[in-house]
Amino acid sequence: MNFSELKEQDQAYVLPTYARFDAGIASGKNARCQDFDGKQYIDFTSGIGVNSFGFCNDGWIAAVTEQLHKLQHISNLYYTAPCVQAARLLCEKTGMDKVFFSTSGAETNEGAIKAARKYSFSKYGAGRSNIVTLYNSFHGRTITTLAATGQDVFHQYFFPFTEGFTFAIPNNIEDTLDKLDDSVCAVMLELVQGEGGVMPLEKEYVQKVAAACREKDILLIDDEVQAGVGRTGSLYCFSQYGILPDIVTSAKGLGGGLPFGAILFNKKTAGALGKGDHATTFGGNPVASAGACYVLENMTDAFLQTVIEKGAYIHKKLSAMPHVKNVSGLGLMIGIDLEGVTVPAVLQAGLENGLLLLSAKHRVRMLPPLSITYEEIDEGLAILQKILNQIKAE
Ligand code: PLP
Repeated sequence: MNFSELKEQDQAYVLPTYARFDAGIASGKNARCQDFDGKQYIDFTSGIGVNSFGFCNDGWIAAVTEQLHKLQHISNLYYTAPCVQAARLLCEKTGMDKVFFSTSGAETNEGAIKAARKYSFSKYGAGRSNIVTLYNSFHGRTITTLAATGQDVFHQYFFPFTEGFTFAIPNNIEDTLDKLDDSVCAVMLELVQGEGGVMPLEKEYVQKVAAACREKDILLIDDEVQAGVGRTGSLYCFSQYGILPDIVTSAKGLGGGLPFGAILFNKKTAGALGKGDHATTFGGNPVASAGACYVLENMTDAFLQTVIEKGAYIHKKLSAMPHVKNVSGLGLMIGIDLEGVTVPAVLQAGLENGLLLLSAKHRVRMLPPLSITYEEIDEGLAILQKILNQIKAE
């Protein structure tokens, strides 16, 4: 099937909910991929932060296929080794106490919200179920996680949304503290707002929120669905903020390319959900767990240091490019504020010139695979430089 036939069939059979780029990707290796006509691209997207070790990493394939030959799935009613191993790695590497496995970011956040409400209900009874999240946040596409998302654009059509979410202004400690009344059981935030434009929260603000939560026994839920798993240069970003959240949610990069998510609980919250309170058929699937074990085992301190160095290298090069007003983000989670040129025009020019890029609100966003080489980075940045030079010349 050639690309135009593929597109025709997609239009005939697939619900058109995605504003797709006009390209079909056929295969890839690390940060390089090619379309159905053999055109080459440098990938600065990693499947929106999923392919932590790039396309078709040999070690990851070996880990996943080895498990595939043993057991592809069995229900959570039985013990399996990869699931337990992934949970042990997560706890040992983060200082958290227990893990619940799920399959996506939204599902993971749903579980965290349930756990926070149950923690509070068991301890304080009804009436303390509200959750404060931040304006400009993004927490997922289910009815509840849309309700938790602090952007009006997501609060349309699908009424009624789940009740019990209020929004606070990011980095405004007075406003956030104001919202922490007796009805609140948890604060949920992204330390780097990803879909909101790659905006890291201020450290002082986060530490003050964490202290206020601790004082009032309000749980702090850290949504690291996008920022976690090495993306910002530490396994989870909370360590850079000097806090230990009560609950951390993780997905995207955790499975290295397979649907996999995890809710991490600290000692205080580990008992919140008991038998029968929460479940999901595919959570902790052995094959996806084997992929996650590979990812976690290879996220060494030395590797994370390379993420920081590559992030700094890209940041510096971007800052010197035409049209670039400001570069935001941490590690290899990068946002670019441009002037005199539109984001869709840059993404389209990238596609035409062999560079895959993302957007986040009004910014160009880059989430390259963490294993991207300097050669691949230089090739991708050279394409971007060329695009921005040409747009300037127009
Ligand atoms: N939370 C954050 C911070 C995200 O960035 C996303 C997705 O972009 C989600 C949750 C939802 O994840 P998923 O699309 O896997 O449901």
